[in-house]
Amino acid sequence: MQNYSFFMPTRVIHGERELVKQAGLLKQLGNRCLLVTGKTSARVSGALDDAVEALKSQGIEYELFDQVENNPSLENVGAGGKAARKFRPDFILGIGGGSPLDASKAVAVLAVNNIEPEELYRNKFDNPPLPIVAVPTTAGTGSEVTPYSVLTHNELETKKSFSVPELFPRIAFLDWRYTEKLPLSITRDTALDALSHLVEGYLSRKAIGTSDFLAERGMKLWAKCLKGLREGALTPEDRDLLLVASTLGGMVIAHTGTTLVHALGYPLTYYHGLPHGRANGLLLGEYLRFSAQYVPERVNDVLAWLGLKDIGEFSRIMGELAGPMVGLTGEEVKQYAAKAAATKNAAQSQGDVTETVLQRILECS
Ligand code: NAP
Ligand code: ZN
Repeated sequence: MQNYSFFMPTRVIHGERELVKQAGLLKQLGNRCLLVTGKTSARVSGALDDAVEALKSQGIEYELFDQVENNPSLENVGAGGKAARKFRPDFILGIGGGSPLDASKAVAVLAVNNIEPEELYRNKFDNPPLPIVAVPTTAGTGSEVTPYSVLTHNELETKKSFSVPELFPRIAFLDWRYTEKLPLSITRDTALDALSHLVEGYLSRKAIGTSDFLAERGMKLWAKCLKGLREGALTPEDRDLLLVASTLGGMVIAHTGTTLVHALGYPLTYYHGLPHGRANGLLLGEYLRFSAQYVPERVNDVLAWLGLKDIGEFSRIMGELAGPMVGLTGEEVKQYAAKAAATKNAAQSQGDVTETVLQRILECS
């Protein structure tokens, strides 16, 4: 029997226009709100209009910080923190993909702690972060239900996360309409990230009974959208299911963390600009092959829940959705494997994850 604790403090509200309909919940968080978004996605998705309508209906004063970059850097969230200290909000409302949502978490800390962004990695703050409301506009990261904020660390030349339990958003609004205008390539990339969280979480050393249950459900929902993802024609129902699968993936990794896939994916994003989810998708097939040596029953479960006959078919589909792998030199393979081996993500994988193993996974991907 396994002893474990399951902690999921985020109120998840699913449905169309719930952000507007349940605006009263925002008022409970205070009278001043800083909206944190990327440059265009919050507007294009329609989520910013809904948020403004909700805030206005409750007489909540707001200001907009709309400068979040993709894969936000410490410098970028530092600018958001400065804007927040000036405006003095009571809570943060993040709208966007994982980048704005993760930036919102950093801003929630920096708003009330006048520290250098680098000090976020201390994971200990004099003042607790402001409450966060998260509105995802991609179906991928699950950041709306995790306590993680993944930031680009330019000095270390990689991505690195910080985390405290108070970073779990207080509320997550899941409205599929906000993902409707996502271009196909971003829909696929982010869907691969969601799948990656579900698969990595299920195969993680830290998997627990509840995370297994959520991972199974998430993979089955994801599988229902596979046809739409492959054909490039997603119905509203597909988009809704993907969003729910992605949130389930977030709940899974909030407990299990991620594994060697994310550890190897970060340098592919940092050095080669591969979108986060695409980088994971390109590595997943070889990861399954490696994991099958240690937890074959679990790998079989993954294939069965996805409705696939073997790892070969899984890898072909990943290649179809992610496109080609970037070419890497021998030196790059060694360097990225060494970086990945030093992360805690790699250590959460099943099996003996050495630098040599990681090099082979990169080469075979
Ligand atoms: P993203 O970097 O947030 O967004 C990618 C692109 O999609 C951006 O150009 C964005 O525009 C655009 N976009 C977003 N929503 C859109 C919409 N509805 N319509 C049209 N365009 C839209 O991508 P992401 O994959 O969601 O997030 C990746 C980040 O999340 C990475 O930094 C990754 O490390 C992190 N992550 C965090 C967790 C966690 O638990 N915290 C887990 C996994 C990944 P804008 O530039 O205008 O926003
Ligand atoms: Zn991810």
